[in-house]
Amino acid sequence: MNTIAPEQTLSEPLRPGLYIVATPIGNLGDVTLRAVDILSNCDAVACEDTRVTGKLLKHLGAHKPLIRYDDHASEQAGLTIVERARTEAIALVSDAGTPLISDPGYRLVKAAREAGVAVTTLPGACAAIAGLTMSGLPNDRFLFAGFLPAKEKARADALAELASINATLIFYESGPRLVKTLNAMGELWPTREVAVARELTKLYEECRSGTAAELAEHYTANPPKGEIVLMAGPPVESASDADPDELLREALTTMKVSQAAAQVAKATGIDRKMLYARGMELKAE
Ligand code: SAM
Repeated sequence: MNTIAPEQTLSEPLRPGLYIVATPIGNLGDVTLRAVDILSNCDAVACEDTRVTGKLLKHLGAHKPLIRYDDHASEQAGLTIVERARTEAIALVSDAGTPLISDPGYRLVKAAREAGVAVTTLPGACAAIAGLTMSGLPNDRFLFAGFLPAKEKARADALAELASINATLIFYESGPRLVKTLNAMGELWPTREVAVARELTKLYEECRSGTAAELAEHYTANPPKGEIVLMAGPPVESASDADPDELLREALTTMKVSQAAAQVAKATGIDRKMLYARGMELKAE
């Protein structure tokens, strides 16, 4: 088994292995007691940017050797860390938040597990979860989709691929690209509730919701600074209790009867032929 015994408690000598350590996403007060313990007692810290992690460790009064491990790290660099983790306690951190979540670490954790090296995780701040919890959007089903592609066509394709998923969608976004992405969302999803969570846990934390068009208007007038989590609530038309006539009428405003029937069938699970017949009736009204 590839686990650290759960009975290991704070401040006991650390067993060898790889420790995935979440760090704050802005507010240093969000560092966990376990994170302080592991970062103070490990043998070395693998990190994306040694300057960023150096500052955090200094703040915590922990002085540990740093090993650079970023997106460009070679497979060999990962294997070297895994080999060290056989006999030493190696902490893995990213610049902020939970490692692996739109951050380096996946290949390292996979290699460690495959090598039979103990892997344990120290949960903590994660912008996606922080944004979701304060957005007021449904959270019983959500899908984290990371960063959207920067190019317009690829971004529109990615959004279209996610369009029919009956869940709140969560993206990471940057200030300069926010309005473009909101415009692309507005074209596809004019009625979905969208939320922008900005500067989470920091002085100017805010969460604003509305339609994509409303938010695009706001952020065009007030260009956003800082870090952003962008979320879109589940598709309105895929709710199982939605009125199929209403969905058909709406779809018929932009598409042929056969296409409208196919779309509503996908969203509701109702037989496409029945919807086609009903669509013809509605069109004739
Ligand atoms: N691994 C990190 C985590 O657990 O949240 C995310 C790393 S990813 C490279 C950085 C992105 O996360 C930013 O571009 C932004 O979209 C989001 N982010 C990070 N900190 C944030 C914050 N304080 N407020 C809002 N979004 C944040």
